[in-house]
Amino acid sequence: MMRLYEFEGKLLLAQNGIPVPRGEVASNPEEASIAAAALGDAVVVKAQLLVGGRGKAGLVRPAATRAEAGSIAAQILDASLSGQKVQRVLVEERLQIAREMYASISVDRLAGSPLILACAEGGVEIEEVARARPEAVARHHVDVLKGLRAHEALQVAKTAGLAGDDAVSFSRFLMQLYSAFCRMDAYLLEVNPLVATTDGRLVAADAKVILDDDAAFRQPFLQGRRDDAALTPLEREGREKKVSYVDLEGEVAIMGNGAGLVLSLLDLVRHYGARPANFLDTGGGASRTKARDALTLVMKKAEQDPRVRSILLAFSLSISLPEDAAGGVLDAVAARPPRVPIFAVVHGTRAEVGEEMLRSVGIKVFPSIQEATRAAALAATRSNA
Ligand code: GDP
Ligand code: MN
Repeated sequence: MMRLYEFEGKLLLAQNGIPVPRGEVASNPEEASIAAAALGDAVVVKAQLLVGGRGKAGLVRPAATRAEAGSIAAQILDASLSGQKVQRVLVEERLQIAREMYASISVDRLAGSPLILACAEGGVEIEEVARARPEAVARHHVDVLKGLRAHEALQVAKTAGLAGDDAVSFSRFLMQLYSAFCRMDAYLLEVNPLVATTDGRLVAADAKVILDDDAAFRQPFLQGRRDDAALTPLEREGREKKVSYVDLEGEVAIMGNGAGLVLSLLDLVRHYGARPANFLDTGGGASRTKARDALTLVMKKAEQDPRVRSILLAFSLSISLPEDAAGGVLDAVAARPPRVPIFAVVHGTRAEVGEEMLRSVGIKVFPSIQEATRAAALAATRSNA
């Protein structure tokens, strides 16, 4: 799941037909006052943070002139909220607010469908409204096969406390929001406040957007934006080599072909009294090159992390053949002698060929996963003496 900054969320909403205020991002006071000038001086300056409650914390503030926008931006850029330092502000045209409402769509995992929440009284007190008068918040689960029908959206608007033209325009907004929700592969779209302006328009004045990063393959916005910052260097290399690699803290470095197999290895290593140093799954049909890259990664782990005392390899051959899996291991070991002993087990199609190949480079091969894991765990926990 990836939470977006307000300005990013609004950009995507605008691309999907949702009206948002005109605005510009600024990272220093000069940029903020230039933005205010371009927007006609009367603006709001909003901290860009991945936490809510900015309004109550004084981090959403109106400015009447470009000079004031600059000085308010300076103050906001100096602030923090819930441990997050403000790095940027969004400078937006000031809205003439007639009414603040609330609309959100999220994935309700328990119900297995999108859930719409709507309320005619939005703004910074929405939590209080929901607590004191839960009946003021309309709830509607969308049937994903049928989509959101106009009459359903209208009913939601009425239940939320709207009538007449207000209910009709709110229901149209909900339909647009639902179609944006689907197109964006969103997990949450929350618009609070959804502002009705004095000249009768509905505008998304705030946007909390969480996208499903499993949809990165078809969402250009998410591509290259998966939270790479949180990855270790080896994990990043794993992603480049297209293997699932996760750094852990233990003594036994692990590689296998198949996520289920590797998860079992983690458990077994624990069972035999050691701790796994990593998770590495090459995937079921790994090529010789991929097996080589994967073992190279594990050997690097063993070189870089002094806690690592052994390597455990497990191949279950069916889509991969011994020439691929064991062949890749031979290539890796030939290029880079391992710092620690390797313990292996090979099951499946022509396993004996794979075993022989591994033995030929000095790898200790065992007849069962339990025995291989036990040996790797023992080697890793034996005292140095
Ligand atoms: P949040 O407190 O982090 O959810 O930030 P919001 O973007 O929701 O802003 C908080 C409040 O600022 C809103 O509920 C409005 O009442 C108030 N506000 C006043 N003028 C404006 C305006 O022109 N635009 C926006 N977005 N909010 C305004
Ligand atoms: Mn808000």
